[in-house]
Amino acid sequence: MKKILRNKFIKTILATIAISFLPLIILEIVSLIIPDPFENSPTAAERLCEDPYEIYIQDYLDNDGSATVVDENLHVINLGGPALFDKEYLSADDWFLFINPSDRDSGYRYDIAAYDGEYGYWLILRSPVAFKFELSINLKPSNSYQTVILLTLIVLFYFAVLLSFAGLYSEKVTKDIKTIEDEEEKKRMLLVSEISHDLKTPLASVQGYSEMLLEREVSDKERQDYLKLIHDNSVRTNVILQSLFMYSKLESAGFKPNAERTDICEFTRLILAEYIAKFDDAGFTYEFEIPEKEIFASLDKNLFRRIYDNLIENSLKYNESGTKIEIAVREKENIEITISDNGIGIPKESRDKIFEPFYRANESYHGSGLGLAIVRQLVELHGGTIELARGVGCCWIIKLPKI
Ligand code: ADP
Repeated sequence: MKKILRNKFIKTILATIAISFLPLIILEIVSLIIPDPFENSPTAAERLCEDPYEIYIQDYLDNDGSATVVDENLHVINLGGPALFDKEYLSADDWFLFINPSDRDSGYRYDIAAYDGEYGYWLILRSPVAFKFELSINLKPSNSYQTVILLTLIVLFYFAVLLSFAGLYSEKVTKDIKTIEDEEEKKRMLLVSEISHDLKTPLASVQGYSEMLLEREVSDKERQDYLKLIHDNSVRTNVILQSLFMYSKLESAGFKPNAERTDICEFTRLILAEYIAKFDDAGFTYEFEIPEKEIFASLDKNLFRRIYDNLIENSLKYNESGTKIEIAVREKENIEITISDNGIGIPKESRDKIFEPFYRANESYHGSGLGLAIVRQLVELHGGTIELARGVGCCWIIKLPKI
C-alpha cells in the first residue's frame, strides 16, 4: 500500500513538473514554427547611405516595424513607423540609456548602425518580436542581487504550487486506498465467515460420530458406517483446507509462477491422455481439437495443469453419464483454449458470480466453491483471461498470450 502511495506521489510530482513545462515548450515550438520576416533582409549597416531619406525601410513598415535616424546633434528623425522617441532632441543621458541594450523594451528587436560620412547619423531599425520566446536569464553584475532574489521567489513559488498539487492529489489517493482497504477488509471478513461455515459442518460430523463411537455400544455395521462418515468428512475438510491454502497462496502479493516456454499443444495432449480412462468410466464422450504444430506460451506447468484438472473434474463431477466434453486449443491473435460440455450448465443468475470464492451454483454437491476462483487466479497469473461463454452446458474460454 505504501508503495502504491509512493509511486502515485512521485507520478504526481512528475506530472505536475511536466504540465508546468508544457506551456513553455509549446511557446518555444510556436516561436520556432513562425517564420521570421527579417531573416534574409539586409541589416541596418547594409542599408546605410548618404541621404538617410533614401534608406530602404518598406519591409519594416510592412511588418509593424519602424526606422529612426538620430544625427550627431542627437536630433531625432522618424523615417517611418511608430515613433521611437517622444522628443525631437535627445539628451546625452537619453541616448546613453537607449544605447544600453538592457534598458530597451524587450518586446522589440533592434538593429542599430552608424553612418560615418559628411553627415553622420545612427540608423535604428526596430521590429516587434511577436512570438519570439527565449528562455534566458540575464545575470549581470549590476542587477545580480535582484535577479537572485527574483529567481529564489520564482523557485519557491513553483515548489509551493508543486507541493499543493501533490498534497491535493495524495489526499485523493489516500481516500482511494482507504476504500480499497475497506473493500479488502470486507472480502477478508466474508472469506473468514465462509471458511468457518464450510468447515463447521464436516467437523461437527467428525466430532459427533467419534463421540458416538467413544460413548456408545455400537454394532459392527454401525461402527463401519460411522468410521466411513468420519473419513469422508475429514477428507472434505482436507479438500477445503487445501483449496484455501492454494487460494491464499495465489492471492499473496509476492507470489510468482515458475513459468517456462512450453508448447501448449503437447502439454494439453499429455494431460488429456491421462483423462481418457476417466471419461470412459464416467460414460462421457469426448472430442479434442489440438493442432499438430507447436504453439508456445509461458507456463508454470504445475500450476497450469490445475486449470485443466479443475475444469475437467468439475465437468465430470456435475454432469451425468452421456455428457460430451470437448477440448480445443486454437491459435488466434492469442492462444484460445476451450473446455466445454453439454451438461446441466450454470444457471443464468449464477454466471456473474461463478468465479467468486465460495460461490456454488449447485448446493447439492459438496465442493469447496474455491475451484473456479483458483482457476481464474491461475489464468490471470499466466497473463490470460477466462470467461464462461453463453450456450448449452458449460463452455470455458481461456485466452493466453503467445510467446
Ligand atoms: P466447487 O469446488 O464447489 O466445485 P467451483 O468453484 O469449482 O467449486 O465451481 C463452482 C460451481 O460451479 C459449482 O458449485 C457448480 O455448481 C458449478 N460448475 C462448475 N463447473 C460446472 C460444470 N462443468 N457443469 C455444471 N456446473 C458446474
